[in-house]
Amino acid sequence: MLEATETPALRFLLEQGSYRRAVSTFPSLTPVCLASIATGAPPDVHGIPHLVWWNRDEQRFVEYGSSFAALRAAGLARGIRDTIVNLNERHLSKQAETIYEALEDDGLTTAAINITTYRGRTRHLPTVPGAPAVSGPKRFFFYSLYESDVTGAPIAVLNRSLGSIDAYAAAVGRWLVTRDGFDLLVFYLPDYDFASHALGPDAAHEALARADASIATLFAAAGGPDEFLARYSVVVCSDHGQTHVEQAARLGVPGGRVAASNRAAMVYGDDPRALAAALDDEPSVGVAAFLEGDRLVARRGGDEDRALLDEYPDGAERAEAALRNPNAGEVLVSAADGWEFVDLAGRHHAGGGSHGSLAASDSEVPMLTVGLGPPPASITGIKHLLLEHFGVGVSRAA
Ligand SMILES: [Zn+2]
Repeated sequence: MLEATETPALRFLLEQGSYRRAVSTFPSLTPVCLASIATGAPPDVHGIPHLVWWNRDEQRFVEYGSSFAALRAAGLARGIRDTIVNLNERHLSKQAETIYEALEDDGLTTAAINITTYRGRTRHLPTVPGAPAVSGPKRFFFYSLYESDVTGAPIAVLNRSLGSIDAYAAAVGRWLVTRDGFDLLVFYLPDYDFASHALGPDAAHEALARADASIATLFAAAGGPDEFLARYSVVVCSDHGQTHVEQAARLGVPGGRVAASNRAAMVYGDDPRALAAALDDEPSVGVAAFLEGDRLVARRGGDEDRALLDEYPDGAERAEAALRNPNAGEVLVSAADGWEFVDLAGRHHAGGGSHGSLAASDSEVPMLTVGLGPPPASITGIKHLLLEHFGVGVSRAA
């Protein structure tokens, strides 16, 4: 969609910059991907395993919002707290330093709008009573719930399908660019993903145009696109791809506990091979992977061959990083083409778009840099690129 776009702001950046397709994490699901973008680390280091996972210490599911119904199934108040607060304060490994922590420890000012991986050094009180304080970047704006500065931006979540979240981001971004109020701005536009789930990955043109307009708002605040690039270098990327899904499956594994959502599933249990074998006849399974001792095993339809993972971009490396995550299940499952796994509440996007698997369609992302040299080959390379740009010691990085 980005490569073919005729929207003016993104087209301008494409013409000014260096572009390639890069690889996301596995699972290619937003909490995992954004944690990798923010920390520069794969999932085995940053600890966020999936949109939904079994917390072994607390003996409960953690659900970051597969669907509103899934949040409710996991316990709504706790689900919201897991998504907004615990992801950053408890689940994101302390060993994985965020880009906000790294740059602010060096005296720079970072700003973040709406990105769900935001851990930083500055304590922020909520705008509504009852929500806890959280630690974020110095300038921190999160769906109207946390706002480090008074910007006059409209409430973020009143009309999501009409793009109210990206409109909020644009209003805050305009305020920040007008003041040149940051060294690093992380500007996150999730409405496009929302539309692509509903309409399918090649039909969300209207939402892409709205994302483009949000970026154009930043240009205008600097006095125009050329003036914007005279002041700032830019990375444009997506956290994951999307693919068409036609069918949804509910995975059941005897003796195993399944955490599934979108196009990836995890199975928790004692005997990984037996758990994976229970999925041999399941048409929704593209490949199941597990560790046997230190050895990575890939299984499909009863065949075990690590080379099955060679069908996917960086397949073995990404499957292994997912499995070595201490919060992951014993078996990781990547969905077959056209399939999705239902979430805790039975919800799915069949007829629309989804992502999460090892497949290139879910895992390849656009990666565009302007004024920063060659774009990184993986979303895990963005933090390093930024540290180099700012001349901040990379030895301290995770
Ligand atoms: Zn999505």
